[in-house]
Amino acid sequence: MTNEDRERMKRLEANRTALAKLASSFEQEAGLHRPLAESVGDIMTHDYEDTDFAQALSDREINDTLVHLLSENREQVEHALERLNAGKYGVCEDCDEPIATERLKFRPEATRCVACQGRWDRLNRRSA
Ligand SMILES: [Zn+2]
Repeated sequence: MTNEDRERMKRLEANRTALAKLASSFEQEAGLHRPLAESVGDIMTHDYEDTDFAQALSDREINDTLVHLLSENREQVEHALERLNAGKYGVCEDCDEPIATERLKFRPEATRCVACQGRWDRLNRRSA
């Protein structure tokens, strides 16, 4: 095994750890999520002022958005783990070029290079 291979392995291991951490933090976040009806029930049983009620509802909306984002992200993390298990981690799934190390450091769940991800985002983004 060359030094380069060893470095690569070390990086993969670090990324695997980072991915596992991300996945488990998403699990925890999702665990906090409860159906909206249940939460509204909680709110209704308290004697909130109108403003508190509105605030509680809008916090709830923010939380729902967050949970949605987290679950999308979690899918991406799981996808990255699949790539890792297939021995394809760190390689762009669209163009087969290596993904920049810097990108993987900040986005360990990335499975596309910046150029391909940008293209993919444009193609898949739903217009708001
Ligand atoms: Zn690419």
